Amino acid sequence: MKNQELINYLESCGVCRVCQLRYLKARGHEYRDMQKTFQRLDVKVTEEDVPKDDTPGEQPAKKPRLSICSTCLGLFSKDFQTQLIAGILQSDFAKYDSEGIVLAISLPMTLQLRQLSMWFALQRKFGRASVDDNCAPDVPIKEAVKLILHPIVCAQLGKEYDANGMMINIELRHSTETDDVAKLVELNRAAFPAKAAHQKRIEISRGLLEKQYQPSRLKADLFEKYLPIPPAAVNDPLQLQSIELAGPLVCVAGRYRKLSRELSHTPWVLNGQRIMEDSIEEIIVRNVGMHFSETPEKITFMSSGREDVDVRCLGKGRPFVLEIPNSRCSSMTHQQAFDMEQAVDLTGKVSIHNLQVVPREQLTHIKTGEEQKRKYYRALCVLDEPVTLEILQKLQISESFDIQQKTPIRVLHRRPLHTRPRTIFSVKTCVQRDNPRLLIIDLVSQAGTYIKELVHGEFGRTAPSISSIIGKPIDILALDVVGIDLDWPADVNNAENVDKC
Ligand SMILES: [Zn+2]
Repeated sequence: MKNQELINYLESCGVCRVCQLRYLKARGHEYRDMQKTFQRLDVKVTEEDVPKDDTPGEQPAKKPRLSICSTCLGLFSKDFQTQLIAGILQSDFAKYDSEGIVLAISLPMTLQLRQLSMWFALQRKFGRASVDDNCAPDVPIKEAVKLILHPIVCAQLGKEYDANGMMINIELRHSTETDDVAKLVELNRAAFPAKAAHQKRIEISRGLLEKQYQPSRLKADLFEKYLPIPPAAVNDPLQLQSIELAGPLVCVAGRYRKLSRELSHTPWVLNGQRIMEDSIEEIIVRNVGMHFSETPEKITFMSSGREDVDVRCLGKGRPFVLEIPNSRCSSMTHQQAFDMEQAVDLTGKVSIHNLQVVPREQLTHIKTGEEQKRKYYRALCVLDEPVTLEILQKLQISESFDIQQKTPIRVLHRRPLHTRPRTIFSVKTCVQRDNPRLLIIDLVSQAGTYIKELVHGEFGRTAPSISSIIGKPIDILALDVVGIDLDWPADVNNAENVDKC
């Protein structure tokens, strides 16, 4: 089969130039200068047949109406591109500020049927030796969309292609779809009868078409009883059914300090009643998330561990990240980040810094290795009697030791009962200057250790404990997290960089 013969035949079947190149298996850039590609492939086509860029200002009314391609239904025509770009620009496109875009085009099934019909037609015309049963003779429509439409749309909109960018969901329809699908349902019943009576009829889907509808699984003669070979001419092109936009998923990371002993981590609701008015999650989402999204309820807040309501988190603070789907923008300036940091600080309950957009892959820092991390605590503890030198000496421990910790009673309602080993890396203690019954204990422990129980021992449910080590009752009055062993996200000083945005 010579290229020229193939093209002449496709031409006679009403296949457009772009699709002709698909059947010559042209690759990316070869669709740009089609005349040159045809020449290189030794195919003669008359120059005026190859569509050129439309010059604006010409009277389009007088232009002869080009017939519609029987295999792509006009998907690759200039008219369709113009319509598509106009449709995207009329959507909420301008609301989004995303560098990268990706097109997701949902095509009517009749297009897939038409490719198969042409496959059969070529086999009949040129023989099965030239046109394989298993390997489609053309560059598949989906791939051609990526090769041809994607670059054009990106260029026209001034965007980059980015698989993680804003998704433009385009749904197309065609007037023949209903009839063709009805015929397909009959064809499917005849071609792939259910193996057993009880077997449910297989749903017709695009996936099924891709898998089953090939010359190796379906006979041309049977196909032709329902649908024509080659594909029939049509009077109207594909139409845009809908365009929906979905902004990219953006991740914003930072570190928070918790300054209040009356603030829960996430909204605290019991039996439908709010126990606490606000939470770290809500404060951060309110002040940061709103810049990126109109739907804050869809934002996910994650942090490297969490504190109890009455525990503060000081020092460098705790790493957190917001996962923001359908984001309107994918970046923020230092000024914007600084403004958000200040807005959160104003609450007086939480303070955030190092706020930045991070790549999604970096979320693993927060999600994994949690158990291995070290946590640094400072606990204010009280004894029943004044501290002795002996007690102080027992609470200077520089070598690590293991404890066995049963799930504390206070969390048994939401966590299963386990006994877990935990490592305590060091203990340092000093006396509070003005009260000899008060101790300040600095602890370094493995993440996941229940510190309150480590101190008082909870009736032996944690062993050993600070109480069992000194052989005396001891209670905890206040606890602060002073350090978290996670060097992420990177340090950025938004305040200092404000002018450099
Ligand atoms: Zn075409």
